[in-house]
Amino acid sequence: MSWTCYSCGTKNPGSADQCTNCGGTTAAPRSFYLHWVFGGALFFLITYAIGSIVGATLLEFAAAPEESAVIAEAKVILAAKNIPFENLSTIKPDELAASKAAAIAKNKAKIPAVIRGMLLWILPALLFVLCGAVVGFISDGKTIIEAGLGSILGQVGGFFALKIGLGHDIGWLVLGAGLAIGFALAVVGSILGEKIQEMKERAV
Ligand SMILES: [Zn+2]
Repeated sequence: MSWTCYSCGTKNPGSADQCTNCGGTTAAPRSFYLHWVFGGALFFLITYAIGSIVGATLLEFAAAPEESAVIAEAKVILAAKNIPFENLSTIKPDELAASKAAAIAKNKAKIPAVIRGMLLWILPALLFVLCGAVVGFISDGKTIIEAGLGSILGQVGGFFALKIGLGHDIGWLVLGAGLAIGFALAVVGSILGEKIQEMKERAV
């Protein structure tokens, strides 16, 4: 890879330790850092996957059903099979799981959409700002757009990992809306990271 001299602007081959024109050894900051798009994408992929899984778990917790609700669902499921209901310990594991899932689904539907969305996405959102800040802070040059592009790649990768790899129930709309929001969060995070980096450099 070639580098541009910071002092005189001469383009030098990657093999040259010194500028072929002035002997300078400092490279000018590049305008675009492709490796930070991919490096960032990896950060964002991991946080997207972890954040969404934790969010889904939080929602399950919030929607944890009363035993009476599980029993009510179990009665419905068994009645459909013409089996009399005794108690929860006598039904088959898959019937118990189905009863619990049905009770949780009803509770989830009762939680207002705004709260549901917050439980699901507050952690991924915070992590995206943090990731953007990390990319902005540890990269040498300005990597704001790079962080944003990385967030898009990372989200697409994380989305398919969750949907196809882990079989998560996650809609295309989530990806569509998330790409724009995720890009914005990553950019905000990266700007913060650059500001912190500047402050640190000034303090030195
Ligand atoms: Zn030079």
